[in-house]
Amino acid sequence: MTISNAPTIVWFRKDLRLQDNPALAAALHSGAPVVPVFVHAPDEAGRWAPGAASKWWLHQALQVLGGQFADLGGKLVLRRGDSLAELRDVIEKSGARRVYWNRRYEAALREVDATVKRALRDDGIEVESFNGSLLNEPHTVSTGSGNAYKVYTPYWRKVKERKVAPPIEIETEGLCFPDQYPRSVALDSLELLPKVQWYRKFYPHWEVGEAAAQTRLRDFLDGPVAAYDTDRDRPDRDGTSSLSPHLHWGHISPGQVLHALSDAHDPRATGSQTFAKEIYWREFAYNVLYHFPHTPDAPLQEKYADFPWETDRAALAAWQAGRTGYPIVDAGMRQLYETGWMHNRVRMIVSSLLVKHLLQSWNDGARWFWDTLVDADLASNTLGWQWSGGCGADAAPYFRIFNPMIQGKKFDPDGHYVRQWLPELRKLPNRYIHEPWEAPDGILRQAGITLGEDYPRPIIDHKQGRERALAALDQLKNENA
Ligand SMILES: Cc1cc2nc3c(=O)[nH]c(=O)nc-3n(C[C@H](O)[C@H](O)[C@H](O)COP(=O)(O)OP(=O)(O)OC[C@H]3O[C@@H](n4cnc5c(N)ncnc54)[C@H](O)[C@@H]3O)c2cc1C
Repeated sequence: MTISNAPTIVWFRKDLRLQDNPALAAALHSGAPVVPVFVHAPDEAGRWAPGAASKWWLHQALQVLGGQFADLGGKLVLRRGDSLAELRDVIEKSGARRVYWNRRYEAALREVDATVKRALRDDGIEVESFNGSLLNEPHTVSTGSGNAYKVYTPYWRKVKERKVAPPIEIETEGLCFPDQYPRSVALDSLELLPKVQWYRKFYPHWEVGEAAAQTRLRDFLDGPVAAYDTDRDRPDRDGTSSLSPHLHWGHISPGQVLHALSDAHDPRATGSQTFAKEIYWREFAYNVLYHFPHTPDAPLQEKYADFPWETDRAALAAWQAGRTGYPIVDAGMRQLYETGWMHNRVRMIVSSLLVKHLLQSWNDGARWFWDTLVDADLASNTLGWQWSGGCGADAAPYFRIFNPMIQGKKFDPDGHYVRQWLPELRKLPNRYIHEPWEAPDGILRQAGITLGEDYPRPIIDHKQGRERALAALDQLKNENA
């Protein structure tokens, strides 16, 4: 075998698609047989190895990607263990001389990638990495004085005029594969499916993979995007794209999304503009994670490091189970547990209640989301939780405390969302759907609800929770003074 026809390994990670995949495009361009490889190496992500819902998603995603390669006459090689050791073994068994991949941005994974790159190059292997996940990689965006952006709007102004590269069209029929493959383990042996089978409820809600992502995008562009500017805040409507897990695992790229958006709609239309800005929020999150790699575990704003959080396991458990007595919060937490996803507005409301009314650390909330979200993403989850905790980049000030009843009435005015996820409140009239404890006894009786039995009373009075949160903030200020 000469170097030119020795196989090229494409190491798949968070780019589980064939189209607009720069590493795969480069492999195709090499003209050599392609060996697609996925190595399950959860230990390498440290504390932030994929959570249970993510692993459920990944299981389906690998099945789909494996099927895509099988349809083309190839095979996705699955391995479990240390990335470098497994890649070296695949190289040895396949005779490959090149390894290509698309880059990752989480600190622990960047370190792995740097080590693998150095080691394989020392072995004499050609290694190239590409940008397959972002419109603008974090190292390409800085302020005039060369610093990292910590506020979204100036970040967005800086990047919004940059050209979005057209998606790379990959002629998959042109891919060729080796006659013989190195050993591949069975998908089940990766043990991605969680032991607790709560994930079974996810199946009706999600189609996983590249084709499913394209269908979701098309459905969104055919309808909801036009009203996105207002509907994106309405959990009672199907107003957002639900593309987040697909973007996380790279079934679709942000460039594909923005090009499809501008092909289908006037990019100056309000809905399109607002939607594109959300895609740039994801970019901003990666910018923050890359430049401030400690933020998944510590606040960006250091003065919040000593916030006087309380440790109340019962309160945390009630929040996790959707039993706080605040319907909009409980509906969100049940939606999360049933589907692995929660509407963005509701993520803001539930996180606010946890870190303010209940005084539990944003870390605890982030951890629960990490385990239960199918779109769990270290950049966006960290940004979201630090936003709510008032301690991150462009965060909501801690003293601004959501009133869960007002939020419910404003964004779920007819209570459809609450009724969908809290069937025990189904018969409650609209007037009380966001505050059942205000309903007269007769109304509660008619609705078949005994408070404290069928549905909890509020875990803490709103006013009391608000005052306690503000007192904690004052305590921090005094300590920092
Ligand atoms: C506490 C908290 C935790 C969060 N955790 C995550 C997470 O782990 N993973 C995740 O992908 N998003 C997270 N978000 C951001 C946001 O809630 C989701 O991206 C969004 O709800 C996904 O739904 P969608 O795909 O329908 O979004 P759409 O409204 O259709 O938006 C399109 C895409 O833009 C991106 N986007 C939208 N809003 C945001 C945002 N605020 N921050 C970053 N990117 C955004 C997402 O990739 C999303 O898929 C979190 C937000 C909060 C407040």
